[in-house]
Amino acid sequence: MNRRRRVYEGKAKILYEGPEPGTLIQHFKDDATAFNAKKHAVIEGKGVLNNRISEYLFKRLGEMGVPTHFVRRLNMREQLIREVDIIPIEVVVRNVAAGSLAKRLGLDEGSTLPRSIIEFYYKADDLDDPMVTEEHVTAFGWATPQEIDEMMALALRINDFLSGLFRGIGIRLVDFKVEFGRLYENEMMRIVLADEISPDCCRLWDVATDDKLDKDRFRRDLGGLLEAYQEVARRLGILVENKPTQTQGPRLVTSNNT
Ligand code: UDP
Repeated sequence: MNRRRRVYEGKAKILYEGPEPGTLIQHFKDDATAFNAKKHAVIEGKGVLNNRISEYLFKRLGEMGVPTHFVRRLNMREQLIREVDIIPIEVVVRNVAAGSLAKRLGLDEGSTLPRSIIEFYYKADDLDDPMVTEEHVTAFGWATPQEIDEMMALALRINDFLSGLFRGIGIRLVDFKVEFGRLYENEMMRIVLADEISPDCCRLWDVATDDKLDKDRFRRDLGGLLEAYQEVARRLGILVENKPTQTQGPRLVTSNNT
């Protein structure tokens, strides 16, 4: 397996050359990092869960008409994807004040925002991924104004769909980060959702208890990260206790506290 050519290695994933031109294999590692990799741990089983959760969400989004790089899952840790030219911008969508936004603007963690807010961060580890505006993005040529419009429209559709999906299983989608890529087909280029969507890049709070079911468990030393990711997978219906190969689709979780 490791004889394949490694194209790129990031903090939580490795990209290998795919079986045919224009494809790559995305491998999910067990590494957990935070604060630009200043904090690091290996959490056995995290990669398997993120592979399953991201596969499930990309498939559902694809069915909703959101174009993605996802082709199919290959095994417990790997998925086949279309090779794209990644736009070097992290697109963050927020519904509830948390993390860096709460800190920067002095907002109470957990307060609902007046409307969903989109932010852009420039992907540059050596600079700690600084927040940038559309002006920076276009002036430095990271994306065109049309590409920004397309990414914002897709990000809002993704947010609408995921907020509803998670709400149905008793989870509040507080915020998340997505990345987009340019997919070249024949003479055409289109913007597609790339990378992953998993509890590593979302804030997911239990509606009834406010329990964190995401990477904040690691960032804040709360423990129980694997159990939290398993809980997300279980509620999505993609992990049945001790039978990870059995799937059943999402189950409605009702709560008086919504
Ligand atoms: N996020 C991410 N990768 C990053 C930075 C942020 O996936 O490099 C996600 C993070 O998990 C959260 C959202 O983007 O769901 C907003 O993160 P925030 O700006 O609050 O930063 P943080 O507090 O996570 O450093």
